[in-house]
Amino acid sequence: MENKIVGGGVASSSPLVGKSSEPTIFELSVAGRTAYSLRSTEVPKRDLSESVPQDFVRDTPIDLPEVSERDLVAHFTRLSSRQYSVDLGAYPLGSCTMKYNPKFADAVANMAGIADVHPLTPARQVQGWLELMVLLERYICEITGMSEATLQPAAGAAGELTGLLIMGAHHRACGNKRSKVIIPDSSHGTNPASVTLSGYEAVTVPSNDRGLVDLEHLKKVLDDEVAGMMLTNPNTLGLFEEEIYEIAQAVHEVGGLMYYDGANLNAIMGISRPGDMGFDIVHSNLHKTFATPHGGGGPGAGPVAVTAALAPYLPGPKPALVSADGANVYRWTIPERSIGKVHGFFGNAVVLARALAYMLYNGSDGLKKVSQHAVLNANWLRHKISESFEIPYPQLCMHEFVASAHGLRREGGVRALDIAKALLDEGFHSPTVYFPLVVEEALMMEPTETESYQTLAVLAERLNELAGFAKTSEGQAKLHAAPINTPTRRLDEALAARKPRLNFDQPSNH
Ligand SMILES: *Cc1c(COP(=O)(O)O)cnc(C)c1O
Repeated sequence: MENKIVGGGVASSSPLVGKSSEPTIFELSVAGRTAYSLRSTEVPKRDLSESVPQDFVRDTPIDLPEVSERDLVAHFTRLSSRQYSVDLGAYPLGSCTMKYNPKFADAVANMAGIADVHPLTPARQVQGWLELMVLLERYICEITGMSEATLQPAAGAAGELTGLLIMGAHHRACGNKRSKVIIPDSSHGTNPASVTLSGYEAVTVPSNDRGLVDLEHLKKVLDDEVAGMMLTNPNTLGLFEEEIYEIAQAVHEVGGLMYYDGANLNAIMGISRPGDMGFDIVHSNLHKTFATPHGGGGPGAGPVAVTAALAPYLPGPKPALVSADGANVYRWTIPERSIGKVHGFFGNAVVLARALAYMLYNGSDGLKKVSQHAVLNANWLRHKISESFEIPYPQLCMHEFVASAHGLRREGGVRALDIAKALLDEGFHSPTVYFPLVVEEALMMEPTETESYQTLAVLAERLNELAGFAKTSEGQAKLHAAPINTPTRRLDEALAARKPRLNFDQPSNH
């Protein structure tokens, strides 16, 4: 079962710390050790507390690890080689769009004029940066079919909250009292969370047997308490909502607004636009679709684009091209009825720069190809594994699809979790499991457009092999024990979540 195409899962060890576990940086600490040493000079030493206002001086020193530069670098280098990442191999984690991020976008974002600008620099000295943002806003609007956008929100979830605040501001301005927002039962967890956080009640509509919004049921819950509906299209089952016009029309008829969760934009760029489908507010996850490495809590950006009618409510300040003294200049402006700030300064600026670089590099024809290949790869993989796994919604999918290990579980007790863990031993990242909630033993796969035919062929072959193991008792035992080649073997996830070990005692043996 050697995997020749993609590597990963290789434990890096050192004679000092052994193979199995890497100590924390606190455990490596030795009192008095530092990561720098300066030559002594004639300049007299002064205690730092003399230069800091007394109010800000700590009573007790902060408990920071004390390590040499050499040990510090070795520690983080070892840790980095114990990780799986998009740079290491395929990462078919459905819904998250973990595609390879081209390095040229990093190079652009790292240019001094882009990366080294202080957020408080006056607008007239950063005209290029403001132009970049105005251009990005325009492209986002073109891709989504919207009128204006804010680049402030720091991720998709922050975009959802921003969009719902805009929705609320619109209803208040119209004198509408509204209390409910509708979401489908396949929706991402951030949707009900954002609805609740913005003060609305989340009302769930079920999917029909084709995995799509049940239009008849939707019509039954629509009334004048509905502020709007949140939807992602293609939905989290990877299926395009064929009745999207009818859905939007029904919601609009009761005075509600349509919110588009743009996490699945990677499926439709240059092909269809949320604005044309009838959406009023759209967030896009730039870190998913447009070249920013994400996961692990790294920075993202979730711009929110809206129709012309909602543009006055957008957060500010917002860069805009204005005429002043006979010349065109970029200025920070505040929309007329702005809901206020949702992020300081430029937002997560380098994510914005990466996204623009990626858009310009691909061009409109290139972005369309990105989506076409993402859809092709997902359908190819779905087809290749469809004899080993149940595919609950067998119609053509968009950029992702949901398979189920339900049959394997029924026959031999092998669960989606076992397949996901065993795939780690094969050098692949796991798919998303147990989401969306409407599919039992869900394995949600999004291969993305960046994986080659060869990689996908090996992935399909491994998945089919693992499903085969699920049929024999020897194979089942193997799957239950997986992973065995990773730096850490199977974890007790319930214990890790319930009793996380966040504190480490100071080492006594170093
Ligand atoms: C990722 C995702 C979100 C949340 O976006 P973040 O950028 O992670 O906050 C919302 N909806 C769907 C469908 C997603 O896949």
